[in-house]
Amino acid sequence: MTHIVGELVESLAAGRVRIVDLTRPLSPQTPIINLPPQFAQPPRFAIETMSRYDPRGPTSYSNAIHVWEHTGTHFDAPIHWVTGKDLPANACDTIPAHKFIGPACVIDVTAQAAKDPDFLLMPEHILEWETRYGRIPTQSWVLLRTGWSKREGAAFLNEDATGAHSPGPHVSASRLLAHERDVLGIGVETVGTDAGQARSLDPPFPNHATMHGAGKFGLASLCNLDQLPPTGSIVVAAPLKIVAGSGSPVRVLGLVAV
Ligand code: MN
Repeated sequence: MTHIVGELVESLAAGRVRIVDLTRPLSPQTPIINLPPQFAQPPRFAIETMSRYDPRGPTSYSNAIHVWEHTGTHFDAPIHWVTGKDLPANACDTIPAHKFIGPACVIDVTAQAAKDPDFLLMPEHILEWETRYGRIPTQSWVLLRTGWSKREGAAFLNEDATGAHSPGPHVSASRLLAHERDVLGIGVETVGTDAGQARSLDPPFPNHATMHGAGKFGLASLCNLDQLPPTGSIVVAAPLKIVAGSGSPVRVLGLVAV
């Protein structure tokens, strides 16, 4: 096989391309964002066994699941935010499928997020990254590596009396990526693509407002970003084809040349 798809198959078989699973386990223990108290609170993931090789189904095992679209490692479609509600092809079932595969640019701000849980990514961090690794290509994922996926239990949401404290993009960084780089979207290790304190920012949830208003996507609760190089990997993130869906849990895979 000499064509590009054949080369990929051969490279996977030979271990020259490695698959990095960027997905966290999905279970009733999966953390859910706590929204401002005046808003509807989403349910936790629930799973009910229909049969397990027993009288309910002697030859089969299956579960029924009840899941909020924005649970665990998940995809945000533009229709998720009011700014993107009238855009064309803005939902899980109408986004062109080729947009579910793209190159990844990984920006490592682990050190900054360790010092300041409310760290905000600024344009200067993006521009500094570009001086080292080159301009962020159009239609690429920008993955914000914060080390947050290594946090366990309550330290993941990191809430106190003043709300959640977790890193995210400043509105000016989101605008740069959406409007001047034309990215697919931003992917993060935290529970959502905005910082923990984003409800108090202007506009509230600035990354959601900016990215989805520009027809861009989001990926939340990623892990293993430390196994991706700054450039050169490819991310596959295809949400369930939920009709008019605002998002979906997703198995996110990184393809890395070894
Ligand atoms: Mn979401």
